[in-house]
Amino acid sequence: MKKQVTLLGATGSIGQSSLDVLQRHADQFSVFAVSAHSQWAKLLEICERFNPQYAVVADSVFDEARPAFADRVPKTTLLSGAKALVDMASHSEVDVVVAAIVGGAGLPSSYAAAKNGKRILLANKESLVMSGALFMQAAKESGAEVLPVDSEHNAIFQSLPDRWRATPQEGVSKIWLTGSGGPFRAYEGDWSTITPQQAVAHPNWSMGAKISVDSATMMNKGLEFLEACHLFNVGAEFIEVLVHPESVIHSMAAYVDGSVIAQMGNPDMRTPIAHCLAWPDRIDAGVAPLNLADIAQLNFEKPNYDRFPCLQVAIEAAKQGGSYGIWINAANEIAVASFLNGEIRFDQIAGVVQSAFAQGSSVMPESIEQVLAIDEQARAWADSAIGAL
Ligand code: NDP
Ligand code: MG
Repeated sequence: MKKQVTLLGATGSIGQSSLDVLQRHADQFSVFAVSAHSQWAKLLEICERFNPQYAVVADSVFDEARPAFADRVPKTTLLSGAKALVDMASHSEVDVVVAAIVGGAGLPSSYAAAKNGKRILLANKESLVMSGALFMQAAKESGAEVLPVDSEHNAIFQSLPDRWRATPQEGVSKIWLTGSGGPFRAYEGDWSTITPQQAVAHPNWSMGAKISVDSATMMNKGLEFLEACHLFNVGAEFIEVLVHPESVIHSMAAYVDGSVIAQMGNPDMRTPIAHCLAWPDRIDAGVAPLNLADIAQLNFEKPNYDRFPCLQVAIEAAKQGGSYGIWINAANEIAVASFLNGEIRFDQIAGVVQSAFAQGSSVMPESIEQVLAIDEQARAWADSAIGAL
């Protein structure tokens, strides 16, 4: 029996890499549903290639998209809106959900997959940043498998012992979360004139615009710090960030006997995607073999928190728990969108995130509805904070 896959965010960077791996293993996986937000023409082409039963777009483009879907992919039912995403993530015929929507918009559907016992290939780190405890609890109760696509977390998952899931931390002394440092790791120019084009030009990875800007501010590493705390059920003191500009080691686990296990590979998201699709087996991902002799040198350095205040704020949010993650995540999303639209400067993003942190509280939200309500409040706050800049 082929595994039925719902791919949320099919038109994005992770979506495209996922389709590439799925196509290589069409004998094992069948694409059940795909989603996009506004890029419906790109989604239509995906439907022509993969013949899913359902496709989901935003309400705002549904009427425009419908005639072309009816004409060119009559066997694919076109749906729209946030509820349709949740329905596709929890559909009884679906085995695997690839959660690759960007931002807080991905939470309701990935949470639905967690509640409904699916294998979740989690790229949408914002889900865990916003609601990690509730999310992991829902997955535990339903028997869902939360497998990390984020390359660092996938590396940590591969470096930890199998029995970690039963008895966390036994024999392990530390998690090393590595990061390239982004395009401005050693930048000597003027931070106030950095353009969106400069900020999204990541030295090693090709990714969507939002995560590329997050990498440039190192907020991405901060979000990943929070993600790792929830995913591996550890406190902030258990994780240390290490800058590694080549992005060859994707993260490491240190053991009490002095061993350090790292996962290495070329920076290509098809590796973690294939790992999660096949786990605990292995399948070909189409990724070029790693050639260490050609790379010749691997470098490491401590993170510079003065240069990247977003990283510091996110680590503080991980220490405090409560709603801090929701506040800084929402404010960051609004600030990054404003930067990409030319409304604020690159060096203003961190200030918005820092001020949002001050709005957080250590009271834990008790439900996803509460998480979404705080998220909405934080977005409104960030909009007006940016308006006042
Ligand atoms: P992209 O911007 O490339 O793609 C985002 C996808 O989400 C698109 O399909 C987009 O549709 C859809 N989308 C956007 N807004 C909404 C919305 N409001 N509701 C529903 N769908 C929406 O992002 P990436 O693929 O780079 O990243 C996706 C997620 O994976 C992020 O959470 C990111 O942090 C994480 N991630 C990404 C990595 C990477 O290498 N790219 C690495 C590790 C994690 P449309 O195309 O129509 O706009
Ligand atoms: Mg990552």
